[in-house]
Amino acid sequence: RVEGDEFVLVADIARVELASVLAQAIIAAMARPLVVAGRELTLGASIGIALFPKDGERGDDLLRCAVSAMHKARAEGGGRSHLYATDMDSRALERLEMEGELRRAIGNGELLLHYQPQLRLRTGRIVGAEALVRWQHPTRGLVPPATFIPLAEDTGLIMPLGAWVLRQACLQNKAWQDAGLARIRVAVNLSARQFESQDMLALVAAALKESGLDPACLELELTESAVMKDAEAFIRTTRQFKARSVSLSIDDFGTGFSSLSYLRRFEFNHLKIDQSFIQDINRDPDNAMIALAVISLAHNLRMSVIAEGVESVAQLAFLRARGCDEMQGDLFSRPLPAAEFAALLGSGRALELPADPALPARTLLLVDDEAGILASLQRLFRREGYTVLAASNGAEALDLLAMHVVQVIISDAHLPVMDGSELLAKVRALYPDTVRMMLSGYTDLQAVTRAVNSGELYQFITKPWNDVKLVEAVRAGFRYHESRRAATHGVIQQFVPDGIQAVP
Ligand code: C2E
Ligand code: MG
Ligand code: MG
Repeated sequence: RVEGDEFVLVADIARVELASVLAQAIIAAMARPLVVAGRELTLGASIGIALFPKDGERGDDLLRCAVSAMHKARAEGGGRSHLYATDMDSRALERLEMEGELRRAIGNGELLLHYQPQLRLRTGRIVGAEALVRWQHPTRGLVPPATFIPLAEDTGLIMPLGAWVLRQACLQNKAWQDAGLARIRVAVNLSARQFESQDMLALVAAALKESGLDPACLELELTESAVMKDAEAFIRTTRQFKARSVSLSIDDFGTGFSSLSYLRRFEFNHLKIDQSFIQDINRDPDNAMIALAVISLAHNLRMSVIAEGVESVAQLAFLRARGCDEMQGDLFSRPLPAAEFAALLGSGRALELPADPALPARTLLLVDDEAGILASLQRLFRREGYTVLAASNGAEALDLLAMHVVQVIISDAHLPVMDGSELLAKVRALYPDTVRMMLSGYTDLQAVTRAVNSGELYQFITKPWNDVKLVEAVRAGFRYHESRRAATHGVIQQFVPDGIQAVP
């Protein structure tokens, strides 16, 4: 056994072809299920083969060749073997080169940390920073972690790299505190490999001791998949961290597979909703539902929720209105070099919070791609005393809905990209209380029929419209909204909806 799950077999074979035959036989034997304590286990293997003396005359040369051939076998999906070839493709060579460079980089001070602020949504204040590693390569420039973290994990370099990140982040946070800056927590990413094969507890204790940082100001981030890999072992470790007041967060939640029964037993402080769900949270009902379910799940398990990758005011407003606790994302700040982060923290800059929609005015949202129509409808309804919002397409409308409480929406049936009925179907899923009306020309009958049949509409109005009738229809829409609100608040009130107007 060389290390971890890597083994070496030295075999004396008569002919070169037999090396592959032998490797296949080993893989087949490994693939046979084993019964351990009544449970069936299956193992897989990837094999790299180096030949003496063709690939090297010394043990470590042969081993190096075998390892890179093994990486190739693994990269092709595992469960296979590969012979080392001197003309190995350039990617593998580049990988080898990069591995050597990364090894040097760790000792050479080429790694650095950027810090991205994490903000509390209730106050808009910075409460934490996530440390994100960068590699300042002498010729390649600033290399992002996605390029070298997987390599570091494969080669075991993640151990010294991870230890450096942890120590550096603790020292930096302590230095900020000593300089009189606000007391925040710093979050450090750990990969599964680090948790499995290192005494993390000792490493963390050493970093805290050396830096003098309060354990409450350190947070460890683990991805959902890393945590679920060996959940039982993980639960034991998390208890020990908890006992030392270090906080833990579960990263990229929603992208892996979680066992809910384990989730209950973990001692996490934060749960981070993966940015893929945040991206179109106010535009895609499916992602919105997942994010909302995650928020309520986390709260019930006494974890607070951080939304990752928040880029727009609409996303922020949507998340805030639904009880998300914290956010991190380019909307407030990209990850920054330490000095810039310190300046930001020192400036006291806070997140601009959208106006609190506690006491909403009577707000009407108009959606039409024809500017002329939009303008005349706006004039008409402003005279009626409504707060009037206008959008020229579905995406804009969904952003406005995230930022305002809208009681009635009127959408044109014919819109570019997302047509009126698609928009109203999304509105129905995301904001079931908003009363939906559609404006349509005679040519859009199909879209209207679809919308009416699927229950997406309160009423539709034909174009060209009659001002008096339209105003009356909208008033009825607001009354309908009010009556439904009253109904959910326990006030008994009878209301007969005006019914769907027939198409002439
Ligand atoms: P992560 O932990 O999920 O980090 C969040 C990533 O999202 C960061 O990418 C960050 O720059 C990016 N991000 C933040 N806000 C936004 C936004 O508004 N829009 C978009 N599009 N992206 C945003 P980064 O720095 O490239 O890091 C990528 C991943 O590399 C991290 O994902 C983490 O898994 C890993 N990583 C970074 N540093 C370390 C480390 O020190 N150790 C380990 N093991 N992994 C690390
Ligand atoms: Mg992270
Ligand atoms: Mg993440």
